[in-house]
Amino acid sequence: MTAQLISVDAHLETILSALSPLPALDLGLLDAHGCMLAEDVTAPFPMPPFDNSAMDGYAVRGSDVAGASEASPVRLPVVGDVAAGSTTPYTVQPGLCVRIMTGAPVPPGADAVIPVEWTDGGVAQVEIRRAPAPGQHIRRAGEDVAAGAMLVASGSYLGTTQIGVLAAAARDRVRARPRPRVVIMSTGSELVEPGAPLGAGQIPDSNSYLLTTAVREAGAIAYRVGIVPDDPRQFLDTLEDQLIRADIVVSSGGVSVGAYDVVKEVLARTGTVRFDRVAMQPGMPQGFGHVGPDATPFFGLPGNPVSAYVSFEVFVRPALRRLLGAEPVHRPQVRAALVGEIRKAAGRRQFARGRLSVREGSYVVEVVGGSGSHLVAGLAQANCFIVVPESVTEVSDGAPVTVMVLERRHT
Ligand code: AMP
Ligand code: MG
Repeated sequence: MTAQLISVDAHLETILSALSPLPALDLGLLDAHGCMLAEDVTAPFPMPPFDNSAMDGYAVRGSDVAGASEASPVRLPVVGDVAAGSTTPYTVQPGLCVRIMTGAPVPPGADAVIPVEWTDGGVAQVEIRRAPAPGQHIRRAGEDVAAGAMLVASGSYLGTTQIGVLAAAARDRVRARPRPRVVIMSTGSELVEPGAPLGAGQIPDSNSYLLTTAVREAGAIAYRVGIVPDDPRQFLDTLEDQLIRADIVVSSGGVSVGAYDVVKEVLARTGTVRFDRVAMQPGMPQGFGHVGPDATPFFGLPGNPVSAYVSFEVFVRPALRRLLGAEPVHRPQVRAALVGEIRKAAGRRQFARGRLSVREGSYVVEVVGGSGSHLVAGLAQANCFIVVPESVTEVSDGAPVTVMVLERRHT
């Protein structure tokens, strides 16, 4: 009955080796936010595209104002205005100037821009009190990047700044790997929707909320199906209905050895989903495999909320990152000094909920909440998992431990 334990690393390897990045699609620029770029994007034109003014001021011929100073200002007639976006075909003739705004094209003839602060701000005639250096305050065409130069390389993460640069290069669509679509199901006849009244023996379905937000934070699209009762027919029907929109299915509950553990009961029969005991605490029972006509990857996570979350972080999040084409697939790890003690049995890797902070310039971490996988209250305080290796049974106060960081905010 008790199958052999498999290691966390072996289970992870089974999962990651079964997955590869989703094929790239042509995506609208905003839809590509958070995705990985799948083409090299080069500048389609010089950037900036034309010589333009870096200041609000006056476009002049440098030779006309070479001697300008506070003591002997130069006065020039202003022949007109060039605003940003202007197409008025001015040419700056010797002895004249044009009022110009930031971003406006520098008219032919002009070879410098005098900032308005160096002048009296005149409209018909301007008094200029300083001489410019040649080319001063002109942003030259192509000085940022030449046409054809690399802007954002294939494989780059498309964050806000990359999206901004692509738009600056006039791209409205790009080839990028789409976000994986993740269907999330909660199994359990004891579950009710949060907000609905609780009857005897019932608890709110928290897992589908936790997993939905975890999926979103991992950069994927979550479809929360919600509650499926412990009934084989209903579970299978729901799964079949949902496969159409799933790149991956994540269910929780029903994977251990109880009489109504319906996920295991139904999917173990297919032969394409394995149910293993993984040497970890929490999260020992794990289901992984493929379901349906397209062999959609399926995760059957244990139902206890802490187990479900640890399983997500250890197995599902790396899988989602692999589908996204993102590297590294794993959460960052740091070493921290343990505050307090940890005791555990040998043979399983423990993921203890922890609170990581910086004390006098060094990381320290303390355990929050108990080790029971139903104890959810501590979860909301945790910002990391303290990873205690299989062979270790005791960690003493102050000893260094490995910490898997779950969020950027440490304190
Ligand atoms: P199971 O894995 O189905 O045996 O469930 C293990 C424990 O987790 C049971 O106490 C369940 O009531 C609880 N549980 C299962 N699914 C959920 C869920 N979606 N939300 C909250 N608790 C759950
Ligand atoms: Mg159950």
